[in-house]
Amino acid sequence: MMSNVSQPQTDASQSLPADAAWDGFTRSLWSHTAPPSEFYPAAPNTLNVEVAIVGAGFAGLSAAITLLERGVGVAVLESRQPGFGASGRNGGQVNPFTKHEPDALRAMFGEQVGQGIVDLTISSGDRVFDLIRRHSIDCDPVRTGFLQGTDKPAGAVTLRRRCEAWARAGAKATWLDADAIRQYSGSAQFRCGWLLGSGGTVHPLKYVRGLARVVTSLGGAIHGDSPALTLQANGGRWTITTPLGVVNARRVILATNAYTTDLWPGLRQTVVPLYSLQVATNPLASDVGAQILAGGQSMTDALRLVHYFRRDAEGRFVIGERGPFRDIPHESDTHRVIGVARKMYPALASVEFPYRWSGKVAMTTDHMPHFHRLAPGLSAILGFNGRGVAMATTLGQVLAVACLDDTAVPTQFPVTPMHPIRMHSLNMVGVAAMIAYYRVLDQIA
Ligand SMILES: Cc1cc2nc3c(=O)[nH]c(=O)nc-3n(C[C@H](O)[C@H](O)[C@H](O)COP(=O)(O)OP(=O)(O)OC[C@H]3O[C@@H](n4cnc5c(N)ncnc54)[C@H](O)[C@@H]3O)c2cc1C
Repeated sequence: MMSNVSQPQTDASQSLPADAAWDGFTRSLWSHTAPPSEFYPAAPNTLNVEVAIVGAGFAGLSAAITLLERGVGVAVLESRQPGFGASGRNGGQVNPFTKHEPDALRAMFGEQVGQGIVDLTISSGDRVFDLIRRHSIDCDPVRTGFLQGTDKPAGAVTLRRRCEAWARAGAKATWLDADAIRQYSGSAQFRCGWLLGSGGTVHPLKYVRGLARVVTSLGGAIHGDSPALTLQANGGRWTITTPLGVVNARRVILATNAYTTDLWPGLRQTVVPLYSLQVATNPLASDVGAQILAGGQSMTDALRLVHYFRRDAEGRFVIGERGPFRDIPHESDTHRVIGVARKMYPALASVEFPYRWSGKVAMTTDHMPHFHRLAPGLSAILGFNGRGVAMATTLGQVLAVACLDDTAVPTQFPVTPMHPIRMHSLNMVGVAAMIAYYRVLDQIA
């Protein structure tokens, strides 16, 4: 039942050909502050396994852990190394809420499934921190909550409604007036906001590498440098080709999010991959840092093109926003977001931001993650809309079992048909224009 298990090696120097995408990954703050990684060798000539998972991010690895805990043999195939995609580069904010509020989710998906999504969302922070605790994953977890603040009257109305809606649904949501948001954030910019107590932060690369270690400790195989090149049904099984050979599996789960290739026709076109860029300071001097998110919360503003920010375990300030379409942001790409940081926190006026990096988020047209059954024995979980630390972990965990049985109907999350976005490449141009338009609206407001 189990695959030929390969243990990771500890010499990361054997790793990969350098290119812009890999360079972009290694420049992140997280790559600089995580210990050297295990190196996961490529898939061998022939591998037979019960379930093959394509993509070693939060979704694929948490699905693998769930299946292994049930005694199902798993091999995870990753183009590069675990965490190479968004999971190793994100803001590390554990934000357990969705764009749609609970009433809207029930209206969109019906009472039972809508309520299922609400419950999953509310529990998604617990699932992350429970996994970390249960498997002693060393990833700097801080669970003091997620904050969202606004300086605009219209934003105040939206946030008040959001806070009340999630509180009614059972989340630990608290409204913050001007004094309270100032105390939590350390910024005088915000007029009000809300605190979601179940949120927090992790070091995302340490977290995703920790999940990979759990997979191998449970007897699963992870193969880095193993892009799945083709995928074919083969007499009740699936055959995946990789550069070195073939993987035969009874079932396949695609967990490739914004890094989805053309492996399965149309799947790449179901998401719009947008870049998000981040910058970070060195550890702040105590007089500068004392007032800035001193409680360790993660935070965003409430603009259309949101800014997300936090401190890390050594006291650096990290902030991100929607970025240009490139793997390595130019220095000039970072001026605007650094300006936003310094406006919120004048104490950062002369502080440098030596780290800059970016990664791809997968947006969907309905702003929801998607679970597709693409063919018998073949499923896909993707589309986390920039909120995957909690949700990709959660859906990987919850939907893995549904991937074992094509007739199983999950009660907590909808199975939806795959809808490629029409004229996807043209739409990418439209998206770039829309981002520019939203930026103007945010500036006017
Ligand atoms: C800059 C940035 C900041 C973000 N900040 C936050 C945040 O603070 N909080 C939050 O909740 N979310 C955040 N997100 C979103 C979050 O990171 C993602 O939603 C989440 O990591 C998605 O996980 P995943 O496992 O689905 O995909 P990924 O982590 O992207 O993993 C997909 C993997 O599939 C691999 N792959 C693709 N095709 C193939 C193939 N053919 N064969 C083999 N492997 C393949 C890729 O190499 C990749 O490693 C952010 C994202 C970015 C980019």
